[in-house]
Amino acid sequence: MKGVTAVPKFYAATAAEFEEFERELFKREFRRITRAEVIESLGGIVVSYGQSKMFPRRERGFENGYLFSRNGLEVVVWTSWLDGLPGLRNMDQGWVLIRDCKHPECPSYFAVPRHRTKNFLTNLLEDARVAAWRVRHRPKCPACGEFMDITRRHRKDGTVVPRARFWKCSRISLHQDGKPRTERWDCMFTKEQKALVEKRRRTATKQRAKRAAQGKETFVSLKRQQEAARRRRQQRSQPPPEDNSQNV
Ligand SMILES: [Zn+2]
Repeated sequence: MKGVTAVPKFYAATAAEFEEFERELFKREFRRITRAEVIESLGGIVVSYGQSKMFPRRERGFENGYLFSRNGLEVVVWTSWLDGLPGLRNMDQGWVLIRDCKHPECPSYFAVPRHRTKNFLTNLLEDARVAAWRVRHRPKCPACGEFMDITRRHRKDGTVVPRARFWKCSRISLHQDGKPRTERWDCMFTKEQKALVEKRRRTATKQRAKRAAQGKETFVSLKRQQEAARRRRQQRSQPPPEDNSQNV
């Protein structure tokens, strides 16, 4: 089975494992997102890349989502677990995002997507806990007392730094000195929590780099990766095609 080991092993969580995961989310005041909410949110809008990450595509059916709302922000957990079907779907991934209640169509932050490997639900739950903690402790501006907003970090040339976020209050008319205020993305964590969050971030970054180095996409379904690996194996075991002109 050479070559297969490079692809993370798909693992279908049992119903009991999933129920436990759900109980843990409910304990932290998450609730299920209803099918009607998903469809209503999708109604009449063109599904952009961000939205298609935020809402599962309709033709694939409804995939369970959980929502936690506090301080004007929402944490959404997508599991791709299908109602009424045993086991998780053997496609896609799960992920956690944070969005502003006023702009649910445009999430402010995505945690690293989690693949359906053995630790899928554990990882997803931990992402949900970290995101909910951020939202519960959404910082307030020291100058005007309003909630600060999740802001993307930009380079000098104006391009976005991937995955880099910070908190910002731009209500400069309310600030005596007329200057915006900023706060670090991880400002709500204790030293110990921060160390854990940073460790998880490093691990995720390393895993993504490893996947990229292996020529794997970092945001595609396991199934597609497995299919691609299978195709590569087939190609290796077949003699090269005689006519390569199309590949030039
Ligand atoms: Zn302010």
